[in-house]
Amino acid sequence: MKPHPVLVVGAGIAGLSAAQRLAAANIPTIVLDKGRGVGGRMATRRIGEAVFDHGAQYFSAKTPDFQEFVNGAVKLGIAREWWPAIADNKHPRWVGSHGMNAVPKLMAESCTVLKEKKVVKIQMVGDAWQVMTDDAGSFLASALLVTIPAPQALELLENSGIHFAENPLTQIKYHPCLALLATLDSPSSIPAPGGLQINGAVVSWLADNFKKGISKHPSVTIHGSPTFSQKHLDGDLQAAGAMMLEVVADLIQPAQVLDWQIHRWRYSLAYERYPSMYFEAETASPLLFGGDGFGMGNVEGAFVSGLAMADYLLEGMTA
Ligand SMILES: Cc1cc2nc3c(=O)[nH]c(=O)nc-3n(C[C@H](O)[C@H](O)[C@H](O)COP(=O)(O)OP(=O)(O)OC[C@H]3O[C@@H](n4cnc5c(N)ncnc54)[C@H](O)[C@@H]3O)c2cc1C
Repeated sequence: MKPHPVLVVGAGIAGLSAAQRLAAANIPTIVLDKGRGVGGRMATRRIGEAVFDHGAQYFSAKTPDFQEFVNGAVKLGIAREWWPAIADNKHPRWVGSHGMNAVPKLMAESCTVLKEKKVVKIQMVGDAWQVMTDDAGSFLASALLVTIPAPQALELLENSGIHFAENPLTQIKYHPCLALLATLDSPSSIPAPGGLQINGAVVSWLADNFKKGISKHPSVTIHGSPTFSQKHLDGDLQAAGAMMLEVVADLIQPAQVLDWQIHRWRYSLAYERYPSMYFEAETASPLLFGGDGFGMGNVEGAFVSGLAMADYLLEGMTA
């Protein structure tokens, strides 16, 4: 009888790096994602001619595994350096050449990814994991890698009636973020290379996607500060957006806003994380949790968390 595949929940960079590693070792692997596309918070949106990175804005590449991956993506023209290293910032910032989402999209090409499959319940059936999706789908897996934000993983465990005596997922905390995407009538006055860390009460980040080199049409991405985003997350987004635009008006003038929309990220940066790169539950068949809530966080941390989970499974298979 053929063994069941490994199942990965989440096609963000963590789930995709795990799936790529397993696929490279010829381990049958299926990734399930609830979204219509892949990449999770490495998100790029097009509005007319304008292109916006509205989730992650750039990434670091400090670890050898991720550096190797980024070098490969650079050679393929998918990633490039955006912000060179300067004295007070020892590491360059990297971006997707045509938007952040191109990076996970490329990774997904070498994986089996099933989209629009929200995992709603998991349970053990014999020595396999049965994974149920919101479209009444059911999959059997020899091992399960869960790479969705920790609060969503907790919800999944709750729906599945699975409880651990000590559950480190409860320690992981995320900031929310309101991301405002505005098209402009002319280039903004944000200096090159096009990103401004603001750390204000209302706005924390402002990026010119035209100067960043991903949008032909002038456009800016504005991120609300964690406190402001938390306060307005479930409130009047039109009013919150108007406040954010007022704060940045001087920074983008003489450009005028033509049109804007706002995206609500309930989970953006994991500011309290589990120190290890993944958590393995004590279950009969492997059940691992990883992603940016584990280890170093952010895009790079999520990538290496995914690799670590895959390597752990591979070690078990060869032992
Ligand atoms: C506004 C914002 C700004 C950021 N800025 C930066 C930055 O500048 N630099 C940086 O390094 N990082 C940044 N980050 C963080 C970075 O985007 C994340 O750390 C990283 O992308 C997380 O990857 P992941 O694979 O762990 O999770 P995700 O990208 O969240 O992937 C999880 C996937 O799981 C799917 N999913 C969720 N629940 C289910 C379910 N039940 N069933 C199936 N699928 C499910 C989701 O659709 C998603 O695709 C930012 C994030 C945001 C939102």
